[in-house]
Amino acid sequence: MTQPAAEAIERLVRDIPDFPQPGIVFKDITPLLADPDGFGAVVDGLAAAGRGPAGEVVVDKVVGMEARGFILAAPVALALGVGFVPVRKAGKLPGEIHSVSYELEYGEAVLELHRDGVAPGDRVLVVDDVLATGGTARATRELVERCGATVAAMTVLIELTFLPGRSAIGDLPFTALAQV
Ligand code: AMP
Repeated sequence: MTQPAAEAIERLVRDIPDFPQPGIVFKDITPLLADPDGFGAVVDGLAAAGRGPAGEVVVDKVVGMEARGFILAAPVALALGVGFVPVRKAGKLPGEIHSVSYELEYGEAVLELHRDGVAPGDRVLVVDDVLATGGTARATRELVERCGATVAAMTVLIELTFLPGRSAIGDLPFTALAQV
């Protein structure tokens, strides 16, 4: 964990109780995004997950999930000098897609990835804002693997440790810049 990133998250991510529904404490990252020093610190912290011990870039693509994952993953991709690839909700991507449905607390959701978004053999860094139940992250891993690529690492701003997200994503390198 990088200290400036952890400090920025502590200072600039605000808790919104009972949003979007009673009992959920929503982690609102908009104050963090509005602060260029804080935003820069977390982008650096997330990008570290795509580097090896000597600082070398060890991933070929950065994948971010709609919607807040986009905001974080795109600058991480630029910082690493690799391409950004979006994972989107159902019906948004215009090309040939892979599609994965997964369970939500109530109902189910679908995520999609362009079939040519990542190439067979690519090593992918997956970036999102919050790891909660892990359903989104696990579905994203499945999409990447259906393309014949590998999730080399996954990284988030905040891991909700009272939920089983870490076990849901399976055995792969995972980092969170902060845990609650
Ligand atoms: P999950 O699939 O349960 O791990 O949920 C992860 C996705 O839902 C992420 O893309 C987050 O943006 C969002 N999310 C889940 N819980 C929260 C929360 N408490 N605050 C903000 N976003 C959340």
